[in-house]
Amino acid sequence: MPESRIMPIHMGIMCGSCRRVYFIVPSPWIRPSPANLGMYRLTCRRPCPEAREFRKEAMLPYRVSDDVFNRGYAAEGEYQLVHAKLKGPNESPKGRQHH
Ligand SMILES: [Zn+2]
Repeated sequence: MPESRIMPIHMGIMCGSCRRVYFIVPSPWIRPSPANLGMYRLTCRRPCPEAREFRKEAMLPYRVSDDVFNRGYAAEGEYQLVHAKLKGPNESPKGRQHH
């Protein structure tokens, strides 16, 4: 199946309730947490009542179209989670040590 469009990858955070994925572009739904330094607060769109704080490390790479990304969030079915793959099977960070 030919892919006519290559969709870019963006880091996003998924709402566990409605499964929308939000991106950290200047967005009304994601703000730095006022209480906890280094954390963010996600306030989901209505009618979803979800509001929670998360760490930046909790974000995952999602493949979305530019239109969806520019909107600031992706509804279920509009994004693809990109599964992280190990680059080299023989390469481990602790594997090589110099004397
Ligand atoms: Zn939600």
